[in-house]
Amino acid sequence: MPHESSSNSLSAFEHLESNVRSYSRSFPVVFRKAAGANLEDENGFVFIDFLSGAGALNYGHNDPDLLKAVTEYLKSEGIIHGLDMATPAKREFMEYFDETILRPRGLTYKFQFPGPTGANAVEAALKLARKITGRHSVISFTNGFHGVSLGALAVTGNRHYRDAAGVPPAGTVFMPYDGYWGVNNDSSEYLAKVLADASSGLDLPAAIILETVQGEGGINPASKGWLQSLERLCRQNGILLIVDDIQAGCGRTGNFFSFEFADLSPDIVVLSKSLSGCGLPLSLLLLKPNLDVWRPGEHSGTFRGNNLALVTATAALRKYWTNTTLSAEVTKTGNFIGEHLGQIAQNRDPRFSVRGRGMMLGLDCGVGKLAEKIVRRSFKGGLVVERCGSEDQVIKVLPPLTIDRVTLQRGLDILDKSVHDSV
Ligand code: PLP
Repeated sequence: MPHESSSNSLSAFEHLESNVRSYSRSFPVVFRKAAGANLEDENGFVFIDFLSGAGALNYGHNDPDLLKAVTEYLKSEGIIHGLDMATPAKREFMEYFDETILRPRGLTYKFQFPGPTGANAVEAALKLARKITGRHSVISFTNGFHGVSLGALAVTGNRHYRDAAGVPPAGTVFMPYDGYWGVNNDSSEYLAKVLADASSGLDLPAAIILETVQGEGGINPASKGWLQSLERLCRQNGILLIVDDIQAGCGRTGNFFSFEFADLSPDIVVLSKSLSGCGLPLSLLLLKPNLDVWRPGEHSGTFRGNNLALVTATAALRKYWTNTTLSAEVTKTGNFIGEHLGQIAQNRDPRFSVRGRGMMLGLDCGVGKLAEKIVRRSFKGGLVVERCGSEDQVIKVLPPLTIDRVTLQRGLDILDKSVHDSV
């Protein structure tokens, strides 16, 4: 039965919560509980979740093994808040991450726990890159999204967010991302030329920051060749390579890190969103050991390395990352979704196109208004899905990696019907 919202249940949010709220406008119900890929509202209506907390719930809502780990920890009177004091939860996470994720991939990094959000990690990465190199500017890319605190906002392209900054978001040079000028135009060649030309006007940057698949920017996947060219340029010019794996990491594209397919070895990796495995706030910088030039306490914060989140993060690694089952499943399911989206595009409107990698996929509707209509209809039909891209013209399909086929098919059917009814 299509869902009808009851405006009464939302009146507290409309009267008491700031105008800045956004998702509660797109999905105007009060969500009460959730399990796996299902979200239930206060009236007992169950929605299928293709939003996954904007990438923070790769393993779905309330994974029972992660809940068990955190419940046991709470019962044990383990440390919940400890600033950045040493705790068994942090030790176990670092050792286990090193053993299951880094060493098998031949990677060596030190861990820095900044404040709990993705933007906190981006801020720390940019600050560190500037400190190491003594340089000021950073290269970011068209349609890049790295957060909305001032430093992170400065490397974010979207005008909607930049206009709200209140001060000029400075210190960034934007370069064209892979494919920005069409498939036959390799924008890394342009970057190589301006870096080599002493009169190009481009000051040598401290770092290049990039997403290997742009999430908020419209689901734009970069090619292996382009990413490798950028890494080469970084090495040749003494520029640090920062990969923002906040949305594309933790298995979203198949491998744990989104850059593995291109054999990159970034100087700094930033992770957040699905790192804790169950939506608890946690973010992390991985630094090449020689880059760890911080003086003690130089970059600080009250909520660093949330112990509850570290417990669930370790439990998530234990459950999903000790073998390749999840990775293989993501590739298979991603292909399945991609084929369905391709069919929707082909059957409903030939102007539509499909992009992405793994289970990070987008249906580009060309026009924001049309994508909005489809997403609204989808919600009425019982599917939670959001939009992205410079004009919000791309429907971002981001179900939990663990979604079962029946639920996934139901979600895709709702989307298909919504497209059919909207075009
Ligand atoms: N970087 C990327 C790639 C993101 O997708 C996001 C959030 O969507 C961020 C950074 C910012 O993370 P947060 O919203 O937790 O500050």
